Amino acid sequence: MNTITQLGAEVSSEEPLARDEERIGRIAWVSIFIALALAGLAATFFILTEAVQLWQYIIYPILVCLPILFGSASARYIHITHVDLLRGYQGRLILRSIELEKMASHDELTELYNRRYFYERFQEGLARARTSNQTLALVALDIDGLKKINDEYGHAVGDIVIANLAKVINKHIRNHDVPARLGGDEFAVLMPDTDKRGAYALAQRLWEELEETPMYEHEGLRVLLNVSIGVSGYPWGGEDVDEMMHWADADMYANKVGRRLPQSATSVPQQSLTDDPGPEDLTWN
Ligand code: GH3
Ligand code: MG
Repeated sequence: MNTITQLGAEVSSEEPLARDEERIGRIAWVSIFIALALAGLAATFFILTEAVQLWQYIIYPILVCLPILFGSASARYIHITHVDLLRGYQGRLILRSIELEKMASHDELTELYNRRYFYERFQEGLARARTSNQTLALVALDIDGLKKINDEYGHAVGDIVIANLAKVINKHIRNHDVPARLGGDEFAVLMPDTDKRGAYALAQRLWEELEETPMYEHEGLRVLLNVSIGVSGYPWGGEDVDEMMHWADADMYANKVGRRLPQSATSVPQQSLTDDPGPEDLTWN
């Protein structure tokens, strides 16, 4: 059973609720029994001994009140326990639904948004950019040679590399940017109200950090990561989601191919911040 199914099963499970209700039911029955017993005792006592003296006139009404007092106290206790129980369940349900919501929109390994959520936000962001005449940038990113890292150091190291790259992405984006792991070693960042220059600036910052900071370090082993990055954006790099994704992928692919060519045959595929690529030029080299 996967974690979502497990959580769902726990949330919908009626077993603990039924157990607690049974406990409250038992308390209610015991209280009724005690109240009836007290009432019976009082009644028997009155029949056997009639009130003749002053103290009996005082004590007898008190005795009559005892079962009534006990009954109302236990009814109050049962009510409070019931309300507490329901509030506890309500609180737990709210927490679980928040957890489920997070699981449905986030990638487990990186805690970035997942593909489904990213595309929802993409559609919304694009619609907003269109109506408010704003720009929207898309940065697509793919790790270079992750298979080799997996093969040489193990899948667990590959996982750590992916998770650490996500942290680097998170570190360099703004609060309202939307970072996502689209799957495998593919990432994307949606940048509202950002032009081409802003998107390239993010790419540059990521490259600079990845050049210096190993994404895995253990007992003298340092894994430095290369990533290929592609950029597109509305309105300069696509009119709809598919077009923007297509151009960002094409740009990223060109960047990846550029990295694979011998350095003498190609320019370094990193864009300087001062370079302003023309509106039609979406490639790095
Ligand atoms: P390229 O330079 O062309 O990008 O090649 P690559 O080796 O990075 O491979 P590619 O992007 O074509 O495919 C992604 C690889 O990443 C496939 C798989 O071996 C690995 N991978 C995908 N998801 C995970 C994951 O969750 N953990 C780990 N450790 N590896 C993954
Ligand atoms: Mg890759």
